[in-house]
Amino acid sequence: MTAKILDGRKLSNEIILQLKGRIESLKKRGITPRLDIILVGEDPSSKIYVRNKIRASEQIGMKGELHAFPEKTSGEKLASLIKKLNADKNVHGILVQLPLPKHLEEQKILDEIAPSKDVDGLTACSIGRLVADGAAFEPCTPKGIMKLLEHARIPLEGKNAVVIGRSNIVGKPMALMLLKRNATVTICHSKTKRLQEHTKNADILVAAVGKANFVKESMVKKGAVVIDAGINRSGGKICGDVDFARVRGRASAITPVPGGVGPLTVAMVIENTLIAAERLLQK
Ligand code: NDP
Repeated sequence: MTAKILDGRKLSNEIILQLKGRIESLKKRGITPRLDIILVGEDPSSKIYVRNKIRASEQIGMKGELHAFPEKTSGEKLASLIKKLNADKNVHGILVQLPLPKHLEEQKILDEIAPSKDVDGLTACSIGRLVADGAAFEPCTPKGIMKLLEHARIPLEGKNAVVIGRSNIVGKPMALMLLKRNATVTICHSKTKRLQEHTKNADILVAAVGKANFVKESMVKKGAVVIDAGINRSGGKICGDVDFARVRGRASAITPVPGGVGPLTVAMVIENTLIAAERLLQK
């Protein structure tokens, strides 16, 4: 068996093209959707992710503003900028690039973002809404994964879905979204015992671990759909959490890294910012 490749780059380009029309119609009404990104420190990967999001926003006709701060910036300084952006009606989306340096209280800073501008869906309010009624902005990476599964017409109802990883940005919201689509969901993490017993049972396996080639062929059920959210650097190359070359021979569908989940995350940042601008107009 050779798995079907779930091409996230192609789907992301299609989605972005579809969003263009909506952006143009907002612009005709005098509104240019604007995404403001806060970056603290010098992490090279974060710089690349931020650059990609700003570039993609501008390419499609939105505004992208970067607020870059040195590593030692205080939480107060960031909170005061976020308050200013919350109050600015020309700003529609606010995103704090994670991870933040260790001295900063991540959730406290995220919670400064007004829920109406929380396009990454990471404030406590957005997370709560996602659990309670699904009305919040959905975090971009799992939202992109759901689009990919939907586009490939992969059935989820009644399927066993296993998510490895329980971060607020990928693992937990991913599990909630799969649950909402009536999958039977298991969340695994670093304290999970006999991980393989869980993963071998997965019809849909999502890896969000942050360790290169963590998911081996022996961990995958034959015919499973394997989604790799990981972005790791190994031997100067970008690779995912899944041993792609081997798992490909066992899965029925698989996302590559690069070119899988990553580009969809960027498309979802744009979509959420656009939704924020449209909601503001409706008010
Ligand atoms: P975190 O480090 O926050 O979470 C990693 C998770 O993996 C944790 O829940 C951890 O468990 C779990 N884990 C670690 N080791 C093991 C193990 N041996 N067995 C089982 N579980 C384990 O990472 P993120 O969720 O932020 O990111 C995950 C990956 O996704 C990274 O590679 C990141 O770069 C990538 N990413 C990609 C994005 C994209 O746009 N495609 C966006 C965001 C992230 P525990 O909780 O017990 O510590």
